[in-house]
Amino acid sequence: MTNIDTTTLIDWLHRFAAVAADKREWLTELDSAIGDADHGANMARGTAAVIEKIDAAPPATIDELLKTAGMTLVSSVGGASGPLYGTFFLRMGMTAGAVTELDAAGFGAALRAGLEGIVARGKPEAGDKTMFDAMSPALDAYDAAVAGGTDLPAAVRAAADAAATGRDATTPLVARKGRASYLGERSAGHLDPGAASTTLLFETLADAVAG
Ligand code: ADP
Ligand code: MG
Ligand code: MG
Repeated sequence: MTNIDTTTLIDWLHRFAAVAADKREWLTELDSAIGDADHGANMARGTAAVIEKIDAAPPATIDELLKTAGMTLVSSVGGASGPLYGTFFLRMGMTAGAVTELDAAGFGAALRAGLEGIVARGKPEAGDKTMFDAMSPALDAYDAAVAGGTDLPAAVRAAADAAATGRDATTPLVARKGRASYLGERSAGHLDPGAASTTLLFETLADAVAG
């Protein structure tokens, strides 16, 4: 696969919703240690709402698909993660434009715009113990792979692997953003829930692209 098309992205969102439902208890467990124990419910509810929307009227273009996903997440998830993931998909869609497929560089630019949306909204920086700590290394790995001539399936797999490494590296960190930051030093020693769900986002992307 050299390009990524609307059908593959629809498959991605289905896979992400299925995994969010499957890992709901784990995400909630992580959030119960350093948050308010709703991250699993937030992600399962939000992604299920996205699937309901796109199954009812499957979007033809990538911007329409991702904007629908983003708006649905913003409106159906009350927690911090809803507006953050919502903004990610909205910005991705705006950057992708009214097309039905993107090449590896174009898809990378859309992902990067999505991360910039998260940064504009939540102001996370590296090491703040948030979803940023999984997503930022994932995109860096993706860009490096594409620049080095790696094909799209291998590039998204590299992104997923880097997300998992970034997720695991959140454990010793003291949270500086979101609810976990209220705990101060006591937030150390726990995996960040948002970094965990972001890793699922990139793992399901790699699976969807692999077919
Ligand atoms: P809430 O904290 O409102 O209950 P969730 O539990 O669904 O929302 O999501 C919590 C996750 O959101 C955190 O684990 C973290 O990864 C992410 N998060 C929280 N605040 C920010 C922020 N300002 N910037 C980036 N990510 C954030
Ligand atoms: Mg929470
Ligand atoms: Mg909450």
